[in-house]
Amino acid sequence: MARGKITRQPSKSGKQAGSGKQAGARRTPLAKLAVKRQVVPQRAPVAKKMPSKKSPTGTGLKTANLKAAKGYNPLAPQRIGEILTRLDTLYQNVVCALHHKSAWELVVATILSAQCTDVRVNMVTPGLFAKYPTPAAFAAIEPEELEPQIRSTGFFRNKAKSVVGAARKLMQDFGGVVPDEMDKLLTLPGVARKTANVVLGSWFGKAVGVVVDTHVHRISRRLELTTNDEPVKIEQDLMKVIPQEKWILFSHQIIHHGRGLCIARKPKCVECPLEDICHAGDKTWSTVEMHEAAKV
Ligand code: SF4
Repeated sequence: MARGKITRQPSKSGKQAGSGKQAGARRTPLAKLAVKRQVVPQRAPVAKKMPSKKSPTGTGLKTANLKAAKGYNPLAPQRIGEILTRLDTLYQNVVCALHHKSAWELVVATILSAQCTDVRVNMVTPGLFAKYPTPAAFAAIEPEELEPQIRSTGFFRNKAKSVVGAARKLMQDFGGVVPDEMDKLLTLPGVARKTANVVLGSWFGKAVGVVVDTHVHRISRRLELTTNDEPVKIEQDLMKVIPQEKWILFSHQIIHHGRGLCIARKPKCVECPLEDICHAGDKTWSTVEMHEAAKV
């Protein structure tokens, strides 16, 4: 369907999302509050031809600027501010869901959380940290010994190598203490920017970057905060539009949003307080035009 034509999408029940009364009847109180505010002006983008997924200019921000020239800017400060305000209302004081009592435990838990749920990781780590209470204890074992104990988290061979390798590197180069600098964290086996940002933000309280996990990846694209597909580029885009003092909280909020409402398949748009300012192409219910490019 041509862009600019969609103003309503059918609900899952097949009923048209029409009047506020009808729509409101299926919304949570919080969602109704968000819709009542009606403070965002850019509801009807008018570009006729969507940009391709790969920006011709090579960056999501430049693609967004092309849209801005046509009257809609998903990165307009007012829109970004509204997204952040609504996230603050919906997810107050959210924190990292991975259980940990030290920076090292958070490193291990984050490595284990790749392609695995936090709930599963939280089931595995208490026994693990009881058996190996320090980085030195992990450094003293072979990865093969660790494998069966983390098997349920998936990719257990690679994760075992990463955890033991990180422990040994920590003992050799950092005196067994997890460093609080990005460059040093990135020297640990199995630690990339996502894990480093989790540790820096959630343990050390340092906003060095934005955690880009699968939820942040998906929802940043749905909300048109980026058109990039690579975590490193997505992080760069987010760092340009989200105020630095919000970087840590924003990640936690988006991760919670991704678990509860903006799930990968069939997001619960009818319940989402961001619905009237979200133009994602794969929304399941919409009161605004949807953009093909704003997809997972
Ligand atoms: S409206 Fe739907 S797609 Fe958009 S943020 Fe909310 S749940 Fe996600």
